[in-house]
Amino acid sequence: MGNELYFDNSATTRISEEALKTYLSVAREQYGNPSSLHGMGKDAETVLKNARQTILKTIGDNSGGAVLFTSGGTEANNLAILGRAHAKPRFKGKTILTTAGEHASVKMPLAALADEGYKIVEIPTVGGKLDPDAIAAYATPDVILASVMLVNNETGALYDVPAVAAALRRNCPDAVLHVDATQAYLKVPFSVKSLGCGMLTLSSHKIEGPKGTGALWIDPGVIKNRGLSPILLGGGQEGGLRSGTEDPPSCAAFAKAAAIGYSSLTERIARLTELRERLLAILGDDPRLSGVRVNLSPVCAPHIVSLTLPRIKSETMLHALSARGIYVSSGSACSSHGKHGTSALSAYGLSDGDADATIRVSFSHRNTPEQVDRLADALAEEIARLARFK
Ligand code: PMP
Repeated sequence: MGNELYFDNSATTRISEEALKTYLSVAREQYGNPSSLHGMGKDAETVLKNARQTILKTIGDNSGGAVLFTSGGTEANNLAILGRAHAKPRFKGKTILTTAGEHASVKMPLAALADEGYKIVEIPTVGGKLDPDAIAAYATPDVILASVMLVNNETGALYDVPAVAAALRRNCPDAVLHVDATQAYLKVPFSVKSLGCGMLTLSSHKIEGPKGTGALWIDPGVIKNRGLSPILLGGGQEGGLRSGTEDPPSCAAFAKAAAIGYSSLTERIARLTELRERLLAILGDDPRLSGVRVNLSPVCAPHIVSLTLPRIKSETMLHALSARGIYVSSGSACSSHGKHGTSALSAYGLSDGDADATIRVSFSHRNTPEQVDRLADALAEEIARLARFK
């Protein structure tokens, strides 16, 4: 470890030293159960309380929303979607609005709800943009929930979530807007207010926190109106909405990573943008890379670049680069296909053949311009080498 060129930061990041230190310190010292009534329990509860405050600050909430800690983005998405649909008393409406480009942890619970009789309506995302006509047409009064990601994990497209929020406010009195901000958090500036959402999903391991931890932020109005039911039943932790003993070391480490990311957001975005632009410039200049197509969106997050290779399968390239200690991802690896809808790349408009030839490069603020040059060089060499086997 140490010499690798890691460009798969949207899959996960290496935990930061600061977050790791925080984890170890809390695990050693404040190891009580936050639900215990004695002093050790209170100490652990304070750790959680501080972590919640930190997360609230990083998403710009000062109106008393709740941060529920979960096992990650997947659970937060499931809780938002299934919990909203099954809220008691049940809503009359049965329509749920979403986009065609969502992560499987949104698509799959929605597919389960479709089997229960809910109507799931997808806003097309062709070209990395939410179709504004579809937003207007689909925001009907029977919508009870909209689940829309802020940044697409495969293309880096930044979706116009405030436009969805505005349409819901106009036409859908029972609707709550849930935003999966897993890939957007600490990569693009936003607040829960600027998005106009009622629920927001965050994941720790995408921001240099520990894996297996995340959060669902919930607007106080949603809680007051009993607009959400738990999906995990048990001891009633997290305000009864997420039973199970909390994990204070992980929550504190998550908050530590979030606080550092938040305080250096401007510099990090500048760095990510520099890396992205460098790669795009090389792709434009280097004749060896002229066959590579960039899947651009009108507005993009700075850390994800989606590249369609000239008739080379993404998995072949992934393994070829991996053998050289360079790590990227194959664009369609973790997407849901078939019964549960198209992958985000198909929803972007790529043919199946192109989707299978698409790799994702995702930067960390820790990558350097020199590493980008080495990646581009390796890509060019492997394209030439693999072309010979065709
Ligand atoms: N949503 C998006 C957009 C993601 O990229 C991911 C992670 N790949 C998730 C949700 C799931 O998050 P987690 O890995 O924390 O369960």
